[in-house]
Amino acid sequence: MKRQHIVAGNWKMNKTFEEGRNIAQAIADGLPESDTIAILATPYIHLSAVSTVVQQKLNLKLAAQNCHQAKSGAFTGEISVDMLSSVGVEYVILGHSERREFFGENEELLAQKVDIALGNDLKPIYCCGEGLAIREAGNHLSHVANQITGGLFHLSPEDFSTVVVAYEPIWAIGTGVTASPEQAQEMHAFIRQLISDKYGEEISDATTILYGGSVKPANAKELFSQKDVDGGLVGGASLKADDFLAIIDSF
Ligand code: PEP
Repeated sequence: MKRQHIVAGNWKMNKTFEEGRNIAQAIADGLPESDTIAILATPYIHLSAVSTVVQQKLNLKLAAQNCHQAKSGAFTGEISVDMLSSVGVEYVILGHSERREFFGENEELLAQKVDIALGNDLKPIYCCGEGLAIREAGNHLSHVANQITGGLFHLSPEDFSTVVVAYEPIWAIGTGVTASPEQAQEMHAFIRQLISDKYGEEISDATTILYGGSVKPANAKELFSQKDVDGGLVGGASLKADDFLAIIDSF
């Protein structure tokens, strides 16, 4: 089974409107048509403008960095899946470690967000990953297993099939420290086995599992050549069109 290769750029809380439109256009201009899907996860204010840019390339897609778990209502400052879909968003990052750490998101809440996203045909990019203390204590596999089980394993096989998983060791996010290709491969193989145990080999084989954590042009090729690494979720290096395009080119 050939898995979808994906490189997703998470801009986080960066770029003015003008800067965002320029970088999105530069990426669209430089992106070769290929089987690799490039995704731009922009702040909300950019989504509508970047939506028209991503339409220029078949393999360029738009993501939000979060959504609310309710359909609509009195939730000042939040955004709904209907709003995201209405401007052409196809993917939504859920459970990023920064959302878990700074906004208290846990598996129970994330399961609700996953459900409402799927109910609105948005594909979740579901993040998991351990902090340094958990890795040093040797508990990283069980920690990630709990995150995946708690946020995703209530799904039907059909719904699960549209989920993208992103493994992002917190100690490697924005630190310049990257997991070694062997560390990434070990965790990705572990996640794939978990999925296989729950949903069977066919679905597991078809699941795209991204690595995130200081992916750069210099290390992307080696990371992406690991058997179970199907691409990357990229923070810092996605803010420069040339770097992001070079990472996509690593496949
Ligand atoms: C991220 O925030 O998802 C991320 C991986 O960031 P960086 O690439 O900057 O480590």
